[in-house]
Amino acid sequence: MPGTIVMKFGGTSVADAERIKRAARRIVDKRELGHAVVAVLSARGKTTDELIAMAEEVSSNPDPREMDMLLSSGERISCALCAMAINDLGHRAISLTGSQAGIVTDESHTKALILDVRADRIREGLEEDSIVLVAGFQGVSSTGKDVTTLGRGGSDTSAVAIAAALGAEVCEIYTDVAGVYTADPRIVPDARLLSTVSFEEMLEMAASGAGVLQLRSLEYARSHGVRIHCRSSFDDEPGTVVLAEGETMEQPLITAVTHSTAEARMTLVGVPDEPGAAARIFQALAAVNVNVDMIVQNEPVSAGGLAEISFTIPRDDLRVARAALEPLQGDAFGGLTAHEEMGKVSIVGAGMRSHPGVAAKVFAVLAEEGVNIDMIATSPIKISCVIERDEVERAVQVLHAAFELSGEGTISEEQPFKAAEAL
Ligand code: ADP
Ligand code: ASP
Ligand code: MG
Repeated sequence: MPGTIVMKFGGTSVADAERIKRAARRIVDKRELGHAVVAVLSARGKTTDELIAMAEEVSSNPDPREMDMLLSSGERISCALCAMAINDLGHRAISLTGSQAGIVTDESHTKALILDVRADRIREGLEEDSIVLVAGFQGVSSTGKDVTTLGRGGSDTSAVAIAAALGAEVCEIYTDVAGVYTADPRIVPDARLLSTVSFEEMLEMAASGAGVLQLRSLEYARSHGVRIHCRSSFDDEPGTVVLAEGETMEQPLITAVTHSTAEARMTLVGVPDEPGAAARIFQALAAVNVNVDMIVQNEPVSAGGLAEISFTIPRDDLRVARAALEPLQGDAFGGLTAHEEMGKVSIVGAGMRSHPGVAAKVFAVLAEEGVNIDMIATSPIKISCVIERDEVERAVQVLHAAFELSGEGTISEEQPFKAAEAL
């Protein structure tokens, strides 16, 4: 008997009535193959952005609890509408909010972490032969019992968490591109679709800006053994399967170029050169849930001198980060400056672990293009450079070309098996 399948549809895939009906048809098709189906939906089109803009119209510093009440409404609309469309196709469907679906989170509004999925109500729906639609991106806090949201792109994580709780065969992420590419196809039109990608690489890609899958959804999937299959909601092409450890055999030198245009850099000057100075600064940021990415510290040259620390954070967190650090000024550091218009370009590939010279090539390619590198960070399989935001697009294109990631004869042909075979 076919197993349970979780299907997640992103914002573009449910943007208007026609697309909702198309998603409904796809969901019903899966049900008619005999699967139990749970569909997780995002808010329609740009709804979440519009809701954020509405909040900013009425408040310069919207209360996070109320923000979550507001933002969670977008996903509910999609689910109720899709349930109606499914009913019209002669199938039973029931829509649930994240809270009704049993998605329990911590208390951190707008960036909540899923703690538990109490999926009884979903199971009841499935047992009654209904298709269950769950509003993505949201849950209910375990102590406060308030509506929470999971951070931008969080419907992916809702879907994976539900797939884990139900022991689903696969979590299908239906989106507006055919799967995971060697670079964002909006920036590099000849980027190549990857039929498979390892968790290790996909985690690095998501962490460095490939928003096609939310980072947390990948972390959750890896730790709970959920199979992720990312594919187009517009056609039936095979898409990309994220492979578990041990499933990949070939390790391409470079798998993808990723980018982000949403970075801000903060620089703290006059940091005392003594144990605990950095700890105080970064504890203050952690306490307000600001995710710090790259950190560079310049040691003072003379004894008793003062150090300088620069780090990057998501631009959206700048206001909160400033508010958290200002009380420490004059004590943990002397002065603070911020540069808001930063971006980041990264190159990811498991093969670079065993191939020297990749970093040198990245720097040479960027230098030839006249792109100035502001900060550099590396992991065993990633090299990231912080650069000016308006140079990001060009940097992605030249790196993608320099590492010959498009076209024939590259990594996909060496992959051990295709997406369709992996399922
Ligand atoms: P959804 O609304 O379906 O969740 P998202 O906008 O969150 O869709 O993610 C899909 C988008 O991710 C694509 O439209 C594409 O522009 C972007 N993207 C960035 N990097 C990549 C990549 N390496 N492969 C595929 N898509 C990417
Ligand atoms: N609607 C939310 C967002 O735009 C969540 C999601 O789409 O995954 O970020
Ligand atoms: Mg998304």
